[in-house]
Amino acid sequence: MDAVVQQYLERFGVSEATRRFLAKPQKMFIDGAWLDSRDGQTFEVIEPSTGGLITHVPAGHATDLDRAVAAARRQFDGGEWRRLKPLERERLLHRLADLIEANATELAELESIDMGKSVANARAVDVQGTVDTFRYFAGWASKLHGRTVEPSLPGNYLAYTRKEPIGVVGAIVPWNFPLQTMAWKLAAALAVGCTTVVKPAELTSLSTLRFAELVQEAGIPDGVVNIVTGRGSVVGAAMAEHPGIDKLTFTGSTPVGRNVGRSAVDHLKHVTLELGGKSPVLVLDDADIAAAAQAVANGVFFNSGQVCDAGTRAYVHRSVYDAFLQELIAYTSTLKIAPGLDPDCFLGPLVSAKQLDRVTDYIDAGRHEGAELVYGGGTLSGPGFFVEPTIFAHCRNDMRIVREEIFGPVLTTAPFDDLDDAVRMANDSPFGLAAAIYSRDIGRVHSLIPRLSAGSVYVNAHGTLDPSMPFGGYKESGFGKDLGPEQLDHLMETKAVWITLP
Ligand code: NAD
Repeated sequence: MDAVVQQYLERFGVSEATRRFLAKPQKMFIDGAWLDSRDGQTFEVIEPSTGGLITHVPAGHATDLDRAVAAARRQFDGGEWRRLKPLERERLLHRLADLIEANATELAELESIDMGKSVANARAVDVQGTVDTFRYFAGWASKLHGRTVEPSLPGNYLAYTRKEPIGVVGAIVPWNFPLQTMAWKLAAALAVGCTTVVKPAELTSLSTLRFAELVQEAGIPDGVVNIVTGRGSVVGAAMAEHPGIDKLTFTGSTPVGRNVGRSAVDHLKHVTLELGGKSPVLVLDDADIAAAAQAVANGVFFNSGQVCDAGTRAYVHRSVYDAFLQELIAYTSTLKIAPGLDPDCFLGPLVSAKQLDRVTDYIDAGRHEGAELVYGGGTLSGPGFFVEPTIFAHCRNDMRIVREEIFGPVLTTAPFDDLDDAVRMANDSPFGLAAAIYSRDIGRVHSLIPRLSAGSVYVNAHGTLDPSMPFGGYKESGFGKDLGPEQLDHLMETKAVWITLP
């Protein structure tokens, strides 16, 4: 670990547990064993608030993946896991949730140190969301069933359906919510009786590796959860093609997801794709403008804008546009930019130097395309990958900053004249992950909801999530759902059984 990272951890007094974990050599978790990659290669893990080296993580290969898939296969094809009764699976998942909760401080610190995010948000959102997701799906393990049917064809039959776990699930996870997104994929898969192989994003493997220790401590049998760290182009690409994986669930960018999806379909795998977004926000003339401005700012700048359903395009009724911008700028100026471990941090650094370059390139593009920069736009001097929250006014829908996913704290705004105009601009995007409406007129709100091409619609808020509600996109934001009972359908086969009766 670099001295600059050590000083950073000391400055904010991170827990002894976190220090101990970071001091250990990091290994992959395959079939209950802690392993280096077959050829011993590793990659560096960088702390985003300082730019210093934290540790190294094994750079896995296809052969490491083979080992993990073989373990998951063995458990699925008649191992101990497959023989567990539903209530036993449920009990193990609750035990795992309890362990995550008991280690919440350490997991939140690791998430903040690895990814750069606010430690307070990591605790309240990422770790709590992970606990809630495991608890919610634990309860489903004992509540899955098929139907008994009375067929109309001549003869006597007992006809019924059985719900069966789909098999080995491969999960490819991005870096913006590493622990929570992993939980979104694993909790439901384990509840229905699948076994799993997870590939965390190469930038953020640490919380997933700590989670694997808790899987072991909870008593989940070896081989049910396997973690293969490594590069997307190596381990991720091999997962999409692996004949031992029955279902692939991918969260990440649309370009990578398109390739992963193509490869999965070529190999006839089931596939869920949770991809990018460019979510519109409509502020109507009857909205509470001050409250809307705060919610819009929180909805785009949370996690420093590295959120798939961030509300990045605000369309505001022309009669309240100037007042809204004024409130928005005033509120945004109160959001604290700080290192992730600072307890008061709202905007931490971006995840990497590469992401910082990407975001500043987009900010430059916005200026060149003629958008009016009304707040932020700069980077912070000193170490770390910090960029200011940035607001553009009078944007056009043909600008790159409006069309493309930036994945940083950048908000575009534009006025609209009537609701048809607002809906047209909101839907004029290849993405369809989420949308938000701010209004006090329930009738107008309800008339707008069906007209928006988005997997989630938030009203007078942004980004409300719960494990009981499905999450997933329309259009190029992907297909299939995570969370809610809807996710269970993507993880089970339905077998039709016909019994001829005398
Ligand atoms: P990414 O697409 O670069 O990477 C996602 C994962 O895919 C990583 O684990 C990566 O290693 C892996 N990967 C990379 N190349 C691969 C390949 N050729 N084959 C297989 N796997 C490969 O995305 P990212 O930069 O980690 O995350 C940000 C993106 O994720 C944004 O576009 C964001 O909108 C999206 N996202 C979507 C959701 C959602 O639910 N819709 C949630 C979070 C993030």
